Amino acid sequence: MKITNNTFPALPERIAGLGELAENLWWSWNPTGRMLFKLLNRRRWKESIHNPDKMLREMPAELLLAASRDTKFLAYYDMVLAKFRQYMADKACSLLRADCPRDAPVIAYFSAEYGLHHSLPFYAGGLGFLAGDYLKECSDLNIPLVAVGFMYPEGYVSQRLSAEGWQESIQFTLDREAAAISRVLDDVGKPLVVQVPIIEPPIYVTVWHVSVGRVPLYLLDTDIEENALWNRGISARLYTGDIELRLRQEIILGIGGAEVLQALGIEHAVVHLNEGHAAFSLLERIRDRILLGLSFEEALQKVKETTVFTTHTPVPAGHDIFPFQLIEKYFSQFWDSLGLDRETFMQLGAHSNDQPGFNMTAFALRLSGYRNGVSRKHGEVANQMWQNLFSNRLAAEDPIQAITNGIHVPTWIEPKMELLFNKYLPQGWLERHDDPSLWEKIDAIPAEELWETHVWLKIKLFDVIRELARKRWSIDKVNPAMVIAGGAMLDPSVLTLGFARRFATYKRADLIFQDIERLKSLLKDRWKPLQIIFAGKAHPDDQPGKMILQKIVTIAKDPEFAGRVVFVEDYGEQFAQYLVHGVDVWLNNPIPPLEASGTSGMKASLNGVPNLSILDGWWLEGFSGDNGWAFGDEPIEGDRSLADAKAIYQIIEEKIIPLYYDTSENGIPLGWVKVMKSAIKQTGSHFTARRMVKEYALKFYAKAMVSAGQAP
Ligand SMILES: *Cc1c(COP(=O)(O)O)cnc(C)c1O
Repeated sequence: MKITNNTFPALPERIAGLGELAENLWWSWNPTGRMLFKLLNRRRWKESIHNPDKMLREMPAELLLAASRDTKFLAYYDMVLAKFRQYMADKACSLLRADCPRDAPVIAYFSAEYGLHHSLPFYAGGLGFLAGDYLKECSDLNIPLVAVGFMYPEGYVSQRLSAEGWQESIQFTLDREAAAISRVLDDVGKPLVVQVPIIEPPIYVTVWHVSVGRVPLYLLDTDIEENALWNRGISARLYTGDIELRLRQEIILGIGGAEVLQALGIEHAVVHLNEGHAAFSLLERIRDRILLGLSFEEALQKVKETTVFTTHTPVPAGHDIFPFQLIEKYFSQFWDSLGLDRETFMQLGAHSNDQPGFNMTAFALRLSGYRNGVSRKHGEVANQMWQNLFSNRLAAEDPIQAITNGIHVPTWIEPKMELLFNKYLPQGWLERHDDPSLWEKIDAIPAEELWETHVWLKIKLFDVIRELARKRWSIDKVNPAMVIAGGAMLDPSVLTLGFARRFATYKRADLIFQDIERLKSLLKDRWKPLQIIFAGKAHPDDQPGKMILQKIVTIAKDPEFAGRVVFVEDYGEQFAQYLVHGVDVWLNNPIPPLEASGTSGMKASLNGVPNLSILDGWWLEGFSGDNGWAFGDEPIEGDRSLADAKAIYQIIEEKIIPLYYDTSENGIPLGWVKVMKSAIKQTGSHFTARRMVKEYALKFYAKAMVSAGQAP
């Protein structure tokens, strides 16, 4: 088996390492890596939309030749390449074992989505970014892990708004050759093709490889000529609405994914399922052990001892339930091979009689020995939700534990903010950012400097938004009202709220419009006005979600709102970076307790953007009284929208506006900067992927490895 890294024939020998760097996402979370490509050619870096692979491919040979003779560039190149190679050579993973053999990762991580970088559109939202940040942190901590997912060439949805504010999708297909993904070849040098077990007539997948620093990610792709035409599109898009297609996707990801690891010779001992989509892989694990002579019960026990399952949401739509007949259609042969009858097999996925069918979460919970929710609150909610699965447990233990999500700090710290921290935090802080004492030094940053950096980021965000609006105006010739709705009138001196996430109805993107008149008077206040920036995509089949989105765009277009409500199209990783760093306050108001964790608020907070958020998910742990604002702590029966909206207005009117506009003689809001500092400290010292991955490693992986005979 071999991986064909993309090659760049035009690259002169002296700088051939640029190709090596372009093919490993390490550059995406290391500022020196990004800077190297920017130095190579600023304009082309921008034109490639920060995609080194595409950039190198399209750069004329003479420009590359010139770079290979530019001594200043070469010095920087040598430094970055040495840094990268040193990182890759380090094999010590002190957390779990003495060495991490790269060719024999111990843990296989399965996820239906990965949010790694905007050039790889394999994500829909939070679950994907969690998985992406997880892999990056596993790389930094040198956890012996391999990841499996799908290569969705069409991504989730490319959002375009019609003149009526209705979400439409534009056709988009990833250029597989101009991205940091490489084909996996078989022994004779042809693209590796693996047959997915149990599906008849057969379906085949080919395999792509992504280097996430030291962690390999393998992505399955059904778009190959071996497949019948109607099967080639199975992995085209995330989360299709067609239930049978979805089942086929999950069989391919779980069972096909396990088969691919086998074909690659990767003998992982532990499996970690990031949500239930890939849970069928556990059936393959059981079957493998039955083939070795174990009974079903024994095999199940072995699999449980070495399986970790993370559930990510209490929202019903987040849990796949397949009709029993559909399961029968695909698995009727399979249960024989496990020595089970139909009834016993179906019971593995049974949950409640209200929603009959094979429930993937129930199934994964039953077959995993290590289970967790993604915040303390979500842990409680999940234990409630699934209690009937664990009826005979001992009272003292929670069957579902809680490991609160965190963000990958090097990915989400804004480079300018990082430079500022470099000045006042102890040297090497980023490498050892999980040392809480180092965050105390945030207090040493002079208020003016922190504020100046924030204002700089705010202006940059507004520049980006206005440039997008300008393009819609000058190229797409949209109606002027759409240009204003797109942010043409944003004013950097105005207090700015940001709200961006998937437009699922429970997230209540339109909550702040409950009392239109009250909001309008805040927006249009002559001296202390407010403006709000929205972004986010609805699932293509989610009509109610699309209607909320349309309502907001309609408001944004309305002169009554004075251009102070803005909707920015096609929310993705790149714009998220600008947005979470550049607004003044990050707003979040889902219906509790449906926000299992939430992570965008952590991204904002790490960069000094405090949260105004309902007490749910991570904010129940994160809110400390002085690092932002909280509401919604009383339980309310029935519709709580009115009460929550009132709380939001009151906090904005009485706390946020006065504090924000209360500035010193030289224009610095000193009280506000204090809140910013608390926000940074609180998030940086706790809500990080480093703390999270360490918890998984020590609470789950280490024990599962002992069970698997892979003692640390
Ligand atoms: C972080 C992130 C999310 C997840 O945000 P939540 O607060 O968990 O909803 C979604 N989309 C993008 C682009 C992100 O960067």
